[in-house]
Formats: sequence, C-alpha cells, structure tokens
Amino acid sequence: MPNYSQRSFWLETCGDDLTPRPSLPHSLDVDVAILGGGYTGLWTAYYLLESNPDLKVAVLEKEIVGFGASGRNGGWCSSKFPVSASMLEHRYGLEKARALMVAMNGAVDEIARVCESEQIDAHFHKGGILTLARGEHHLPMLRSSFEAYSRLGLGQQYALLSAEQVQDRIRVTHVRGALFAAENASLHPARLVRGLARAIEKRGGVIYEKTGITGFRPGSPATLLSAAGEVRASRAVVLAGESYLTQLPQLHRVVLPIYSLITLTEPLSEQQWDAIGWQHRESVASCNYTVDYLTRTADGRILFGSRGAPYRFGSLISDDQELHTPTHSHIEQLVLEWFPMLQGIRFTHHWGGSVGMPRDWMPMVAFDPRTRIATARGYTGQGVSTTNLTGKILAELISGQRTHLSELPIAERSSPLWEIEPLRWLAVRYMQDAFRRIDEGGKKGKEPMDAALAKYIGAH
Ligand SMILES: Cc1cc2nc3c(=O)[nH]c(=O)nc-3n(C[C@H](O)[C@H](O)[C@H](O)COP(=O)(O)OP(=O)(O)OC[C@H]3O[C@@H](n4cnc5c(N)ncnc54)[C@H](O)[C@@H]3O)c2cc1C
Repeated sequence: MPNYSQRSFWLETCGDDLTPRPSLPHSLDVDVAILGGGYTGLWTAYYLLESNPDLKVAVLEKEIVGFGASGRNGGWCSSKFPVSASMLEHRYGLEKARALMVAMNGAVDEIARVCESEQIDAHFHKGGILTLARGEHHLPMLRSSFEAYSRLGLGQQYALLSAEQVQDRIRVTHVRGALFAAENASLHPARLVRGLARAIEKRGGVIYEKTGITGFRPGSPATLLSAAGEVRASRAVVLAGESYLTQLPQLHRVVLPIYSLITLTEPLSEQQWDAIGWQHRESVASCNYTVDYLTRTADGRILFGSRGAPYRFGSLISDDQELHTPTHSHIEQLVLEWFPMLQGIRFTHHWGGSVGMPRDWMPMVAFDPRTRIATARGYTGQGVSTTNLTGKILAELISGQRTHLSELPIAERSSPLWEIEPLRWLAVRYMQDAFRRIDEGGKKGKEPMDAALAKYIGAH
C-alpha cells in the first residue's frame, strides 16, 4: 500500500488515517458520477447534495481523496485569479470582469462558512496577500494591478505599501514596496479536502477510492469506465481530474501539466519570528515570472513554493517530477536569499504536484445536457477557492437551478487545445527559460531581448 502521508506535509498532518475507502465493487447506476476526489469533484458533490438531498452521487478516485493538487498545494485560499484583472477587463469588459472578481471574493468567504458549518478544522485564517516588489522593476506591475482593481471598483480592498510599511509587516531582502490584498486567506489544504469528503458522506454521497477511471462515454446515461465495472449516470458524468485529465486520450491536450514544487522549513523559534515579523500570517509572493508563493503555517514554519521543474515531453506526469532535486535545492537557496537571518535552518519536507494550465490561462466549467458530460478545470495554480466557485456552478448547471454565477465568463466555455508535440515541448521549454531570464535580467535592470515576446505569449 503506498504511503500517502509522504506525498505532502499536509497529508501527513491532516489528522486522518489515510487507509483507502473501499474501491468500486461492481457496475453501478447513479444520478451523478464524478471522476476525481479533489476540491472540484467534492465541491460539485457537496452543492448537488445540498440542493437535491435525494440525488445518488458517486465519486470515483484513483488513489485517495486529496491525492492530487488539493492535498499538496501552498494553502493560499485567495480571490486571486489565473488571469489578471486587466486581462479579464480586456477580454470580457468591465462588468463581467468585476462580477468574476466579486464571485472570487465570495468563494473565499464561502469556504470559511462551510468549514464552520461542517466543522472542518482547516486552519482558515484571513490574513490577506502581500505581493512584494523585490526590486524597482516590480513596482510598475504592482501599480498597474492596483489601477486595474480600482477600475473594477474594488480598490478599497487593496493598498499599495511603501518599503517601510512592508518592513513593519515582514522583513524580506530587496523589498521596494508591496500590494496588500485584504480579501484572502490561508488554510490547511488536506484538512479541507478530507473534511469535505466526510461532509459529502454525511449527506449520502458515496466515495470509492483506489478506483482508476480508464475512459468515459457520453450519452444517456453517460458512463465512467473502470476495470471493476461501469458507472452509469442518468444526470451527469463530471470530469474533475484537473492536470490528470491529460492521461485520458480524449482529453490529452485540454491542459498542460506543469509542476509546482514546495519546500518547508522546520518550525521557527520565537527569536527567528521576531527577526522576520510576519505576525499577521499574510500569504506572500513577489512579482517574479517564475512564480514564488509563501505561507506561514499554523505551526510556525515557512512554506516556499515555486515553479521550475522542467516540462516533460508528452505532458508526462510522474512521481519523479515531484522530487526534482535541482528545483528543491534552488528553493532552499531562495528561502535563505529572502530571509538571510535563517542561515542554518533545517528543511524538513519537499514535495510537489502538477497544476493544470489551459492554453488561454482561463479556467472553465461546462455541462452539455446532450452528452451529459460536465467538467471544470484549468486553474493554473489558483484553484483552492476557484474550485469552490466552479463546483457550485457545475451543481447549478447539472440541476438546472441556475443563478447569476452561471453567467460568469468562466461558465460554458472551453479553452483552445495545446499544440501537438514536439511543438508543445519546444514552446513550453522556451517560456520556462525566458521567464527565468526575465527575472534574472530584471534584477540587473536589463531584460533579455525577447522579453516582450515571452510576456506576450505568456499572457495569451
Ligand atoms: C504544488 C502546488 C501548489 C499549489 N498551490 C496553490 C495555492 O496555494 N493556492 C491555490 O489556489 N491553488 C494552488 N494550487 C492549485 C490547486 O491546488 C488546484 O487548482 C486544485 O487543488 C485543483 O483541484 P481539483 O480537484 O480540480 O484537482 P486535483 O486536486 O488534482 O484532484 C483531481 C483528482 O482526480 C484524481 N484522478 C485523476 N485521474 C483519475 C482517474 N482517471 N480516475 C480516478 N481518479 C482520477 C486524482 O487522483 C486527484 O485526486 C497548487 C497546486 C500544486 C500542485
């Protein structure tokens, strides 16, 4: 039996015995069959059962609940969206962009509400996000984000901070300023996903673990296929496997699996925290294109996450990419570069997982009543609260009880497919390298010649 607790610090400390639930015993007939025991699948089940308690809902999970990104992420439960506010405005207009941002704020509060009502102790903490300018070159990005939020009428939730004001909150090297975003929280990801599973079971949903789905058939009923049998669903089949969907031949190019890797320190001493500050436990990042995200955990450790593990040909997902030593060593160095006062700190955990990146960076949620296939995916590392929103929308679309959420620009759309190989590999490796060079060049005040091209591709 695999040792699931080794997949992340979160699974190790979620307080659950991770012994798998029983797997699918034989073929079944249900109302709704869901592939994937992560946040997307479980929020969908949760809201379906909340509005239709008599519905027969089955969740089919290849490993255990929380095995995927939902049990491994950085713990940011944020209203941040994979597409920037200004790009949303550019693509969908001011009103729709604003509606989406307001719905994202709502999702953060909704997660807090459900944790409370279902007694899920997910260490929810609303500390906001601090996006740091580490160098003068980051300041224009912060100003333009603030202006975009202000145009959407949300400026009161954000504040531009000077370097001195940041120092009062957190002591990090090279800081020139920050954007503070109040409507954001952090949480214990695995406690949330495991608690959600229990809430669904309480409402009559059934979860089968160690049940890999090998394919699906649209129709009436729509069907999930597995070695143990078929699950026929009269209302809908929900495909909620995020980056792993690429392993189903029909969905191979719908997203790109990109690895995000995390390093965790031992708990810091009181003196170390005094030197750093960070008393409000904000989620912290910089404006780097190579992405960095930091969380102060409830037990006083620093979680530092970053992209960087190279994309593997053919959208390969494999265990060895989760422990990519060069990337993890690089992250350890980053921790010390950000916080030189932590020289000698011990790093206790390293892990990683893949995020699903759509070709246009825009998450999607859709249900086709003709084929009875529903899906939500493409969160690009911003899925903790977005999945709450997409799960709610999926439940609305499937049950026909639509609200204004089903009108949001993420609903009833689809992203273009990724290019075929070897084009995909060439383009993604180029972007990974270009983003690294842009970050390096920015620090020295000289971006590479192809910076504009890489930024353009990265935003489209
Ligand atoms: C390292 C890392 C850090 C991240 N940090 C953050 C963060 O701080 N904040 C944030 O908002 N987002 C973050 N994300 C992204 C976020 O975790 C995801 O967007 C979110 O968890 C997606 O949930 P999901 O249910 O769609 O997918 P998953 O959690 O990946 O769940 C999919 C499930 O489907 C199962 N499955 C797949 N294929 C099959 C099959 N064929 N048959 C049966 N079951 C199958 C998998 O085993 C898995 O359990 C991070 C992701 C990673 C990897």
